[in-house]
Amino acid sequence: MTPRTPPYFFNTDHRQRCLEQLRSKATGLEKYIYLNGLKGRDPNLFYEVLLANMLEIIPILYTPTVGDACSNYSHIWRRPEGVYVTIEHKGNISQVLRTWAAGPAARIAVVTDGSRILGLGDLGANGLPISIGKLDLYIAGAGIRPTTTVPICLDLGTNTQKFLDDPLYLGVRRKRPATAEMDEFMKEFMEAMREVFPQLLVQFEDFSTDNAFRYLDMFRSQYKVFNDDHINSTGAVVLSGFINSARLASEAAGKALTDHRILFFGAGSAGIGVAKQLMSFFMLNGLSEEEARQRIYTVDSKGLITADRKGLQEHKKYFARTDYAGAPLTTLVEIIEHVKPTALLGLSTIRNAFDEDVVRRMASLNTRPIIFPLSNPVSLCEVDYEDAIRWTNGQVIFASGSPYNAVEHNGKSYEPGQGNNMYIFPGIGLGTILSKAKHVTDSMVEQAAIALANSLTPEEKEADLVYPRLARIRDLSAQIASAVIRAAQLENVDQNNLLRSLSDDALLDYIKAKQWEPATGQARL
Ligand code: NAP
Ligand code: MN
Repeated sequence: MTPRTPPYFFNTDHRQRCLEQLRSKATGLEKYIYLNGLKGRDPNLFYEVLLANMLEIIPILYTPTVGDACSNYSHIWRRPEGVYVTIEHKGNISQVLRTWAAGPAARIAVVTDGSRILGLGDLGANGLPISIGKLDLYIAGAGIRPTTTVPICLDLGTNTQKFLDDPLYLGVRRKRPATAEMDEFMKEFMEAMREVFPQLLVQFEDFSTDNAFRYLDMFRSQYKVFNDDHINSTGAVVLSGFINSARLASEAAGKALTDHRILFFGAGSAGIGVAKQLMSFFMLNGLSEEEARQRIYTVDSKGLITADRKGLQEHKKYFARTDYAGAPLTTLVEIIEHVKPTALLGLSTIRNAFDEDVVRRMASLNTRPIIFPLSNPVSLCEVDYEDAIRWTNGQVIFASGSPYNAVEHNGKSYEPGQGNNMYIFPGIGLGTILSKAKHVTDSMVEQAAIALANSLTPEEKEADLVYPRLARIRDLSAQIASAVIRAAQLENVDQNNLLRSLSDDALLDYIKAKQWEPATGQARL
């Protein structure tokens, strides 16, 4: 780190100056570049500014702006950051990993192969900012120590011609390898990771869907590895918001929690993944798996998904209805009439699919309709918050994938929920690291969701919120980590016996004491 020389700390707050410089940048990409420079000059100061302004800065370091940063990475590149392991390193991968300073202190790596970055497709070596950004969220959200993190991009080539033709492209100029060659590479890579970083938890990020599942299956019994699709942190966050929403709705209607019926509009990988996680809601309330499945309905572009449909895709079969034999139901309004759902969840990418008719229909069926338009970004969101409030006269219980502002309606202020997976994964990472768990299990993820649901303060409950305020993320992550550790202990996958003997209060104190904080500028003077 560069030595700090007066006078810049003498009478003024340099963090405030950084913030002003950040805000003076006109575009998201310029803000990203500014922050990246700040991190290079003074990492501690970068984290200080980030921690004090998380809600403003996280959308730059991660979605949506990190998408621009990745698309343009070969052009905005300033300095080496993170590790590139290229296909040409095959045979010498451990030597490459040893160049990263963390060494045996490393605790968590995020690894992408750049093949399916956000919704942007194959970005090849331009994918590195995804690994860096995700780790910054772990650092900011949970207090993982920055020097124990390892951002990695596997550069195996790219099938995107535009990059191969770009004279400034950073990566290896070749097409992606065939499966057998990639498998060999991945095996050497994982073995080398364990050799160089013996305590490492590895998160695979934004691999193409097939590879994500293949490599997870190939490695999960041997190494501490997980990926977001597998732990389904989106499903966990939605489950958490649903637990609180269902409580509010059931109280208002005087009905049992097990009476909820959930209609999923959109049955892609996200819709089906979230639906499977929401079954836990019913099972936690005492229903069998079959009863839970019966309470979930799914809709795709052809309408209500029924088992008698010809050529039904494999992933849609589990929730396909066998109790409907009439003419296919195709419009959302007629499906709502048939199902009478208490909750409508959107993962369809269809902007404004929940129109006035749909929303009013939900409100006529339910005292407090639950409506979660979860498609990202806002330009694909099924309904805007303001419309949902107006059309239900403030009765809607709402959470979206993208952020919305509070809304005034008839003199009252309403706050939306945001089903942001940032609530969950940093705490899961922290709990896994501290318990030295061998695996991240389904039950650790489910307990994380329940802990998040239970973390509302009296003031947040009073305001009818379904998610706590994201500004409390450090505290929330500590609570989630504690639940994750207890779940790991129950399943005997933990390897830190010390934590078993601690009371719940002592465990929470232990976790909080482990959360890293940047030294403040004052303290370093
Ligand atoms: P996807 O695979 O494209 O799935 C879209 C689904 O919507 C498909 O089942 C599709 O039907 C259905 N659909 C499309 N048009 C429709 C229409 N007119 N009427 C009814 N259904 C229609 O996408 P995905 O990967 O599952 O992601 C979906 C959305 O979830 C994305 O916007 C993503 O941003 C969002 N998501 C949000 C979060 C979060 O944190 N909130 C996390 C993950 C994903 P067919 O199957 O018939 O094509
Ligand atoms: Mn991802």
